[in-house]
Amino acid sequence: MTDEIIIKNQPIFNKILNKINNTQNNVQAYILCCTSKTTLDTYSNLFSKVLICPYKYKENCNNCNICSRIDNNIFSELKIINPVNGVIKKECIIELRNDFQTQSIEGKNEVYIINDAECLNQSSANAILKFLEEPDTNTVAIFTTTNLDAMISTIKSRCQIIKLNNNVVDKGIDFVIKQTNLTEEEIYESLDFIRTVENNYSLAFSKVKDEFLNQFKTKEKLSSAIYVILLFYKDVLNYKLKNTCLYFEKNDLINIANRQSVNLITKKISFVLENMYKLEYNVNMLLFMDNLLIGIGEMKDD
Ligand SMILES: [Zn+2]
Repeated sequence: MTDEIIIKNQPIFNKILNKINNTQNNVQAYILCCTSKTTLDTYSNLFSKVLICPYKYKENCNNCNICSRIDNNIFSELKIINPVNGVIKKECIIELRNDFQTQSIEGKNEVYIINDAECLNQSSANAILKFLEEPDTNTVAIFTTTNLDAMISTIKSRCQIIKLNNNVVDKGIDFVIKQTNLTEEEIYESLDFIRTVENNYSLAFSKVKDEFLNQFKTKEKLSSAIYVILLFYKDVLNYKLKNTCLYFEKNDLINIANRQSVNLITKKISFVLENMYKLEYNVNMLLFMDNLLIGIGEMKDD
């Protein structure tokens, strides 16, 4: 009978989990790294259940009540630390250590997860290192990061590093649909509009009034349409820098990309981004759009 845990598209992680599940864990600290935070959240949760479940962990474990408590975030022998304003404070680590001073009682291991571990500064990292040096073999640390290079090296050197594949779709038109809640047709309307702005600027102002704002009538819709414009410029930049597009068809933007410098496109991206946030406070959508157009039109290479 096989009770193998099967995780698609993660061969290395899969192997490590099954090994721990079938024998025992003898590593005290792991780093999970991936470009997607969603993937990290999913797998750090699974990893902690495999480490903690008092039985051999099976998918949707109902042999113990611990695994379901972990899923509901109410299991006290699993602690999760997130940075506040980009910093993980030393005090958090000291508090964690105090909580874990007593031997684990219910689960196989006590686990703490430190998310965005690149946010550990030198003093919180020192506190962690002291913690890792204590010979409590039942305490396991899981660090997660989207930026392994930025993690403090003394911590990295104490951990087994597991690189995860990104299982989340973060490109293509499907991604744009998911991010914006617009239909494919609406997305193409937005693209058509920004291409008019780039290729036939004098027409853009009448197009805003006659078509664009009729299509995107609410602030919410308009904000999504502008997000499409932002992704369009990002793709123009992707094309210029890497000769590849993430969201849209290359052929739709090659001409526009060839006409302008990386510097100019970067400026347009920041400008659109700044204005997206301003939309919330703008009552007059036409005025808002006119200002956006003027800003883009006046932008020059310097
Ligand atoms: Zn369980």
